[in-house]
Amino acid sequence: MNTFKVAALAGDGIGPEVMREAIKVLRAAEKKFAFRIEMTEAPVGWAGIDADGKALPDSTLALCKTSDAILFGSVGLPDRDPTIPREERPERAALLRIRKEFGLFANLRPVKLPKALAHACPLAKERQGDGIDILVVRELTGGMYFGQPKKTESIGVGDFRATDTMVYTTPEIERIAHVAFKAAQLRRKKVTSIDKANVLENGVLWRDVVTRTGKHYPGVQLEHQFVDNAAMQLVLRPAQFDVMLCENMFGDILSDEAAALGGSLGMLPSASLGAASGGKVFGFYEPAGGTAPDIAGKNLANPIAQILSGALMLRHSFDLNEAATAIENAVGKAIEQGNRTGDIFSPNEPGAKKIGTREMGDAIAAAI
Ligand code: NAD
Repeated sequence: MNTFKVAALAGDGIGPEVMREAIKVLRAAEKKFAFRIEMTEAPVGWAGIDADGKALPDSTLALCKTSDAILFGSVGLPDRDPTIPREERPERAALLRIRKEFGLFANLRPVKLPKALAHACPLAKERQGDGIDILVVRELTGGMYFGQPKKTESIGVGDFRATDTMVYTTPEIERIAHVAFKAAQLRRKKVTSIDKANVLENGVLWRDVVTRTGKHYPGVQLEHQFVDNAAMQLVLRPAQFDVMLCENMFGDILSDEAAALGGSLGMLPSASLGAASGGKVFGFYEPAGGTAPDIAGKNLANPIAQILSGALMLRHSFDLNEAATAIENAVGKAIEQGNRTGDIFSPNEPGAKKIGTREMGDAIAAAI
C-alpha cells in the first residue's frame, strides 16, 4: 500500500480544531482508498514558542524535512505577537522560513462556490453563470517582490526615489506554466494566462514562454488576458475561468479578488508547491484564513478550508486524484444536506442547519 509521511502543524487559534477535522476526513478517505498516511503532529507558531522557545522549533523543522508534505493550520495571535520582535513572530519566523526552506515556488488557490451557497457570494446570481470554480496558480518566488535592485534613495531634500525591479527568467516561467497546465489536465482543461504584454517586457516574455510550454499540453486550451481585463472579467463573468496562471504580484491581487467570490474565508484551501524530486512534489497545504482568535476554542470555526487543504495534498503531493475528488465531493454533499457553520449560515435559507466545527467534520467524513 502507498504510504506517505505528513507533518501536521496545527498552530494557534482555530488551527488545532480545524486540523482535528481534516485528520478525521483524511482517515475516512484512507479507509475507502488504498493508501496510508503516517501523520506526526508538531508545534508551530505560539504553540512552538510555548513548547520550545521558537515559532518553528528545530524538532518541527527536522520533522518537516523527513516528511513528504506539510499540512499546516495557521499561526499568530494578535494580542501576543506585538510582545516579541518582528522577526521572531510566528508568521515571519515559521511561515516565511518554511516557504524559503522548501523552495515553494507555486501557490495554488482553488475557489469553488457550491451552488447551495450562491447567497454567500457578493456577486448577483446571474453573474455567477454556471458556477464559480477557479484555480489561481501564482508564481511565488520571482517578479517584482524579489527582483533586484530594490531600494529607496534620496534625490534631494525630503525627496526620494523608490525602485522595485520586475525580473523573470525563461526557466522560472516554464516551471510555473507546467504546474498550471498539469492542474488544468485534471480539471476543465483551460488555462487563462495573465500578463501585461502590451506594456511590460516581462509580459512579452511571459506570454512567449507560456505559449511555448502550452504546446506540450495539446488537450488544454490556452488563452491570454491582460491583467486589467482579467480583474474586470472576474467580477463580470467568473464562470469563464478554469485555471488562471499569474506571475507573483498579479497573482497576489487576483487570488484575493477571486477568494472574495468563494463565500467565506473558512472555505478556501491553498497549496504551495516546491520542485518535484523522484516523482514526488513537496507541498505545503494550509487554509487561506488565519487563526481567527475571535472564534477559537468555541467549536465555531468552519473546518472546510483545512479539509480541502488535505484534499489538495492528496492530489498534488501524493497523486491520489480520486481520493482528493472524493473529499471535495463529500464537502459538496455536506453543504447540499444543509450543514452550515456560522460563517456560511443564513437564517433565511430554507433547510439550513447551523452546526459546529466537529459536526461539520463528522458530516464530511460520513459523506466519503
Ligand atoms: P483571520 O483570517 O484569522 O480572521 C478574519 C475573519 O475571518 C475573522 O472574523 C474570523 O473569525 C474569520 N475566519 C477566518 N477563518 C475562519 C474559519 N475557518 N471559519 C470561520 N470564520 C473564519 O484574520 P485576522 O483576524 O486578520 O488574523 C488573526 C491572526 O491570524 C493574526 O495573528 C494573523 O497574523 C494570523 N494570520 C495567520 C495566517 C497564516 O498562518 N497563514 C494568515 C492570516 C492571518
